Amino acid sequence: MTSSLWERARRAMPGGVSSPVRAFRAVGGEPPVVIAAHGAEIRDAEGKSYVDLVGSWGPAILGHAHPAVVEAVTRAARDGLSFGATCELEVELAERVLTRYPFAGRVRFVSTGTEAVMSAVRLARGATGRERIVKFEGCYHGHSDGLLVKAGSGLATLGTPDSAGVPPAIAALTHVLPLDDERALEHLFERHGKEIAAVVIEPLPANAGLLVQRREFLVKLRQITRRHGALLVFDEVISGFRVAPGGMTERLAITPDLVTLGKVLGGGLPAAAYIGPAELMERLAPEGPVYQAGTLSGNPLSMAAGIATLDELARPGVYERLEQAGAALELGLARAIGDAGIAGSLVRVGSILWIALQPGRAPRAWHEIDRGVARRYAALHHGLLARGVWLAPSAFEVAFLSAAHDATHVERVVRAFGEALAATAEAEPAR
Ligand code: PMP
Repeated sequence: MTSSLWERARRAMPGGVSSPVRAFRAVGGEPPVVIAAHGAEIRDAEGKSYVDLVGSWGPAILGHAHPAVVEAVTRAARDGLSFGATCELEVELAERVLTRYPFAGRVRFVSTGTEAVMSAVRLARGATGRERIVKFEGCYHGHSDGLLVKAGSGLATLGTPDSAGVPPAIAALTHVLPLDDERALEHLFERHGKEIAAVVIEPLPANAGLLVQRREFLVKLRQITRRHGALLVFDEVISGFRVAPGGMTERLAITPDLVTLGKVLGGGLPAAAYIGPAELMERLAPEGPVYQAGTLSGNPLSMAAGIATLDELARPGVYERLEQAGAALELGLARAIGDAGIAGSLVRVGSILWIALQPGRAPRAWHEIDRGVARRYAALHHGLLARGVWLAPSAFEVAFLSAAHDATHVERVVRAFGEALAATAEAEPAR
């Protein structure tokens, strides 16, 4: 049955959504329209509740509508919604960010992850006087022209646009390399090292499954960029504050030149940032020649939500709880996969988890992902939704746990997963 709300959504907005993946095209069917979310649960317009493993695609690390965050935002709202001037809350959040990322000396706030990475790239180009950038296949850095580019085939291929409307001339400045491949990296730098302004990477690639990288690969990346005078940008829009207070930068103990942050930073409200050493960041206007601005940048409500979120995360035991919930879910899902006799494994870093529905070791690069996963995942996704578990509507998206997911939620997910797998296995016998 098509709900009237979804019909109205489709008449009023392209695909009924404000961001494409929400339309469920990868899994088929009609997406529930959401009314509210509290803690680990989300409720749709038909009154059905689900254990939520999407978590607003990352920001909801404390669970939805956490009382401390709601209280902070409400308090801030009473004092004005937007000032267009530096505000106290902005200074407070910037200082908290710098404490967690000690390599950085300055923070520039923006509103979305897309803006953060786009602006970090501009700063890198402005600082180096070079034009080319490098990204990796399977990493997503928002929808700005130069980053919405995927690989052609082979080494050091110049990028081709991944969307209509991206001028090929802009895409051509982006090189796309495979992850986990030192040789491809060396080759590219041998040929174009002196023209490369920046290499952008998710240090924990989480937009094409969870492609956990070898630390040696990232160390190599640090060395080669430094040697050639290119900047290394860690896109921590997903991993920042989630996998550790100082994100992957802390966990890896590798110092990039710039880090981009978003999602958890705004605690569910629009806030993102790019950060780096003072000398580099002071090339931004008004101190320097690289221009970037924003009417709602540093918005007081977003800043209040971010402060409250980071402060809650700083309480003793929160990251341990996230790790425990993650470990329990991983164990339960892995058992269910084993019991069902289905090819698959779990990939997890802290509260980020990916169900890899393919045989063999977990992939570390985009080309290692079995294309059949999408079809297998669609059936599983609907099986879970029917059983009250909301997983991302794409095989290539990760699941996010929050501090509000307790043992009961984990149990509910594991039970539903086992049942859904059994139903899927009946439809498609194990290989
Ligand atoms: N970088 C990464 C690593 C992301 O995962 C995303 C969004 N999922 C972005 C950038 C873009 O962020 P936004 O959607 O806020 O523009």
